[in-house]
Amino acid sequence: MVLLEDREILAQLPGLLLPWYDGGARVLPWREEPTPYRVWVSEIMLQQTRVEAVRPYYERFLEAFPTVEALAAAPEEKLLKMWEGLGYYNRARNLQRAAQQVVELYDGEVPASYEALRALPGVGDYTAGAIASIAFQLPVPAVDGNVLRVVMRLTDCRDDIADPKVKKAVRAQIQAVMPEAEADIRVFNQATMELGATVCAPNGPPRCLECPAMAFCKGRLRGTAEDLPVKGAKKPRRVEEKTVFLLVRDGKIALRKRPGTGLLAGLWELPAAPGVLTESQGRAFLQERGVSPGELLSLIHISEPTRLD
Ligand code: SF4
Repeated sequence: MVLLEDREILAQLPGLLLPWYDGGARVLPWREEPTPYRVWVSEIMLQQTRVEAVRPYYERFLEAFPTVEALAAAPEEKLLKMWEGLGYYNRARNLQRAAQQVVELYDGEVPASYEALRALPGVGDYTAGAIASIAFQLPVPAVDGNVLRVVMRLTDCRDDIADPKVKKAVRAQIQAVMPEAEADIRVFNQATMELGATVCAPNGPPRCLECPAMAFCKGRLRGTAEDLPVKGAKKPRRVEEKTVFLLVRDGKIALRKRPGTGLLAGLWELPAAPGVLTESQGRAFLQERGVSPGELLSLIHISEPTRLD
């Protein structure tokens, strides 16, 4: 069996993926009306979050903030309320800071330039590429985890996809095979991501029999696809033990606002002390801070990961 060179394999992708995508891509709300603002909001919401989790938030958020100007001017409490449950709240704060920059620098028009998009808060290489190509049909790659997985399996490559150099190389490989027609650019990037999300998916064997690239995929032909991509081990997360206080006075429960940076920045929580305290230690801790022991209704021990939001 003669296997194609990697660049020959990738060069086949536009011809195979464009008709495949036309024939059966998922219907998603942000694909129906791909204005720059709608695409941008969807890409930020989809960072580290599944499509199904984003769906109920997306239209609701756009109803609350229908324009860049409305988002830029929104009170933070309202912004976070509309994001409540989606997690990674810094995404919402960065989205608003970016909206404020778009109002100040570009008169409220999302800039049609990869470099200008990349300079906005919360917009990395992938997100800038996705907005530039999907909303403006600019010929730049949008390489997310799905695309990395597809490329590594197609080319049977064991490079570590956590390595920025490997991501950069994959971006260059995809850039080299981007279709020329403007109308195809948007579809090509979305189709490559769609293949990785639905057919060449993570967590389980790829569905190669449904894949338009199955005839020349090195990973499938060599039986290595399921072991790809290779991803370096994540740093272990540090976990902090805490004692949380349920304090009640005049029928009201005490809350405090978390610091403006770090994990769950600026959100409200029950007051807590570091470490695992016994009830008497907890009462002493509170007394030192002017809280009367009678106000302590209960004391709970939790473990909090220190990963930044
Ligand atoms: Fe992925 Fe299989 Fe398609 Fe190769 S043939 S790209 S492993 S789904």
